[in-house]
Amino acid sequence: MEVLTESIHKKKLSSKHLMKITCPNCGNDRDFVEVADSVILTTHYVQNEDCSFTQDGDESQILGEIRFFCGECNADLTQHHQRFLEMLF
Ligand SMILES: [Zn+2]
Repeated sequence: MEVLTESIHKKKLSSKHLMKITCPNCGNDRDFVEVADSVILTTHYVQNEDCSFTQDGDESQILGEIRFFCGECNADLTQHHQRFLEMLF
């Protein structure tokens, strides 16, 4: 399963020309910060026979805006956020 997923990602990566997201302000292309407002964190747990709990899914919902910043100079790079999501594995 793990291997299959990886090969799909590799195919996707090689099929299009890639340009790094670079901060126009300071040239940083390495560190980025994603900030989400109004996040509801909902995590499901299953209680086991031995009374311990196992996490069973995470259904966190983001209600507010998601912003994307340069990790170096905090310039607003939200316009690149969609691209960031596409490249997030
Ligand atoms: Zn920057």
